[in-house]
Amino acid sequence: MIFSRYYGGRTLDAVAATVKRLDGGGMRSCVALLPGLRFRPRGVDREASRILGILPALDSAGLKADLTVKPSQLGQRWAPANCRAALSEIARRAGERGAFVWIDMERARDVDRTIDDFLSLRREHENVGVCLQSYLRRTEDDLMALLRGRHPVRLVKGYFRESRADRFDTWHEVTANMKRLLGPLIAGSARPALGTHDESVVAEAARQLALYPRPDFEFQLFLGAKPGLAERLVRDGRFVRIYVPYGRLVRYFVHTLPQMDVSRNVQRVLGRPVVR
Ligand SMILES: Cc1cc2nc3c(=O)[nH]c(=O)nc-3n(C[C@H](O)[C@H](O)[C@H](O)COP(=O)(O)OP(=O)(O)OC[C@H]3O[C@@H](n4cnc5c(N)ncnc54)[C@H](O)[C@@H]3O)c2cc1C
Repeated sequence: MIFSRYYGGRTLDAVAATVKRLDGGGMRSCVALLPGLRFRPRGVDREASRILGILPALDSAGLKADLTVKPSQLGQRWAPANCRAALSEIARRAGERGAFVWIDMERARDVDRTIDDFLSLRREHENVGVCLQSYLRRTEDDLMALLRGRHPVRLVKGYFRESRADRFDTWHEVTANMKRLLGPLIAGSARPALGTHDESVVAEAARQLALYPRPDFEFQLFLGAKPGLAERLVRDGRFVRIYVPYGRLVRYFVHTLPQMDVSRNVQRVLGRPVVR
């Protein structure tokens, strides 16, 4: 199957095997439950309980991982109180196992509420971080505000179809913005992370880390993307974490594909540029 190299597994046993294989290669994992469509608070509870099941299952196989969660899969827009409660419970239980929880960033229209949810969560839990997208014009301001509190931030380029009012016009500008934000991220975040497969950005991060060493700086990659890059980073002594998608693939197609930037993401599957 074309997607299998990107896929952690449909069952927790399969995910455990993936995490174990990555461990063997010197890489850590961050497991993401592929989101389902949830339109009722009961659905949020079900989604949360599946997420809560991940770490105990790994634990019983003698494995550890972090989690990454999409607020939309916990009903952020239509059941905000349930979403916050679920995030808090996930962070609490992850904390008991020494694990960290990343909050994914989704649509531009959700950035304010996601940062608010993150900050409210962070008041109770140390083991949470939030993702910011360098394709958004606002991200520099958001990053600087979060760094005033030294909050954990994962910087990515951005995945979704957004309007030109919100995002930079060209991918060149997005990449330049990402490189520009690396310095403040490295110096100012309690837990800095970079989610990219762009080797020019990886090289820029390495250059900046030589000037401002942060052995805890995490290079995060999608499972299966850019074969060889994660292995090379491990050989260079970098801290590497792999984003491992878990669950039914159909969930991903129903939930995420309709919102994504098609040309940019087709390029990723092909592994070569379609647009610049
Ligand atoms: C750990 C992690 C967490 C993320 N979290 C979020 C999030 O919360 N919100 C969000 O909007 N986005 C998130 N993303 C996705 C991110 O925004 C980008 O869409 C994705 O990382 C591709 O951009 P790039 O930085 O790799 O650069 P690009 O310029 O898109 O790609 C650089 C190079 O890598 C190749 N490449 C990129 N992706 C792949 C792939 N999947 N398979 C094969 N080759 C590939 C490209 O073909 C190109 O050669 C995350 C990404 C990672 C790795």
